[in-house]
Amino acid sequence: MHADFTGIAYLVAAICFIMALRGLSSPETARRGNAIGIAGMVIAIATTLADPGVVSFELIAAGVLIGGAVGTLIALRIQMTALPQLVAAFHSLVGLAAVAVATAAFYAPEAYGIGVVGDIKTASLVEMAIGTAVGAVTFTGSVVAFAKLQGLVSGAPLVFRGQHPLNAGLGVVLVALVVWLCLAEAPAAYWLIVILSLALGFLIIVPIGGADMPVVISMLNSYSGWAACGIGFTLSNTLLIITGALVGSSGAILSYIMCRGMNRSFFSVILGGFGVEGGQTAAANGDRHAKAGSAEDAAFVLKNASKVIVVPGYGMAVAQAQHALREMCDTLKGQGIDIAYAIHPVAGRMPGHMNVLLAEASVPYDEVFELEDINNEFAAADVAYVIGANDVTNPAAKTDPESPIFGMPILEVEKASTVLFVKRSLASGYAGVDNELFYRDNTMMLFDDAKKMTEEIVQSL
Ligand code: NDP
Repeated sequence: MHADFTGIAYLVAAICFIMALRGLSSPETARRGNAIGIAGMVIAIATTLADPGVVSFELIAAGVLIGGAVGTLIALRIQMTALPQLVAAFHSLVGLAAVAVATAAFYAPEAYGIGVVGDIKTASLVEMAIGTAVGAVTFTGSVVAFAKLQGLVSGAPLVFRGQHPLNAGLGVVLVALVVWLCLAEAPAAYWLIVILSLALGFLIIVPIGGADMPVVISMLNSYSGWAACGIGFTLSNTLLIITGALVGSSGAILSYIMCRGMNRSFFSVILGGFGVEGGQTAAANGDRHAKAGSAEDAAFVLKNASKVIVVPGYGMAVAQAQHALREMCDTLKGQGIDIAYAIHPVAGRMPGHMNVLLAEASVPYDEVFELEDINNEFAAADVAYVIGANDVTNPAAKTDPESPIFGMPILEVEKASTVLFVKRSLASGYAGVDNELFYRDNTMMLFDDAKKMTEEIVQSL
């Protein structure tokens, strides 16, 4: 009876998670999706706590208190711009948890009902080995991603000769170790799987860098889901299996969408690696000259426009300029000017970064358009207001086969009559590529912090 109730409650929770994902697929329904997801999680936790198998509520309470306190503290203190590395850090914990659970099951199988030491069911050994391997890969892969995104190590791809054969060789040895573990249940096989997988996670992520990092983030998201799924098998917990599979597959789909957005094949991303950590001033400005303007100049151009397309990028997130931006757009709309926001799939530093910021500033959803829906509109726009975006507008992606961003679709801002670029200097973006749009005749550079400049434009309007 109790098992039936648990099964039904877990099913309801799983349906809630699926509906949550559905809700999160659009900004209009995202809040509702979140609420449904929270409801599903409450049902899942309450059902698990009601399980007679729970032996110590004290330990669980201590875990919730300590984990909850640390999580709350981090969430309150984290800067919006540091969210990608926070996500990577959290993924590493999921990977570590998968290894810890599998190790516990290996040394105390009777506690998990999967046999006794020396005689663990073969199916459980296979699940354990896969769960451990995926968890360990997720752990070191996420740690490397965190270090790259946090700037602790260079974001540039680290490539060396024989990298791919080495990875492939390690993969083959890993499979052999899984077979050994299943046949002999040898602790040595288990620990070698852990060590090799840790090394593999490191080796898989180091050659990926620059503009490919968005895919790494969503890929690690997927790995962490599969790691959780593996824990679900070890613990015989159907809800964890379903939830892990949902996270794993949605992460994989997101990786695919990101690759499509950047016009890159999934395997070319995985095999690494291009791009450098951005920020350096373009090396070869030559005798090209960029035309700089003031907030008053920009206000004059904007006031005389009838259609303005706003292109937000990472710099808007750094400056937290979204509220000032919305105020500027509201003022322009009040003067009868048509406003639209153009979002590139990899703008910012995490999937959906710009959408989150614009939603935070209460920008109406129907003014926000994806790249493919708005790119044709630039030719009819009087002004493209590019605020803290760079790589996502760079025509080198179309014209220079040598460029690390070659092939990535871009927002064609240069087709607008005037392009206003709000940024602090002529420095390159994340991919480290000079942007020749800065030197075009129809471009006006507005050199300043994005928030400060936009506020000054509002005053001038
Ligand atoms: P970019 O990184 O290309 O450019 C951002 C620009 O913002 C910089 O050139 C910088 O110029 C400017 N900037 C920084 N701070 C400020 C500020 N306070 N005020 C005004 N401007 C500022 O950003 P994009 O959004 O165009 O492109 C995103 C890039 O990041 C792509 O290459 C993408 O692949 C990569 N990426 C994306 C991830 C994702 O998931 N979306 C994850 C990881 C990487 P200056 O210094 O002159 O001010």
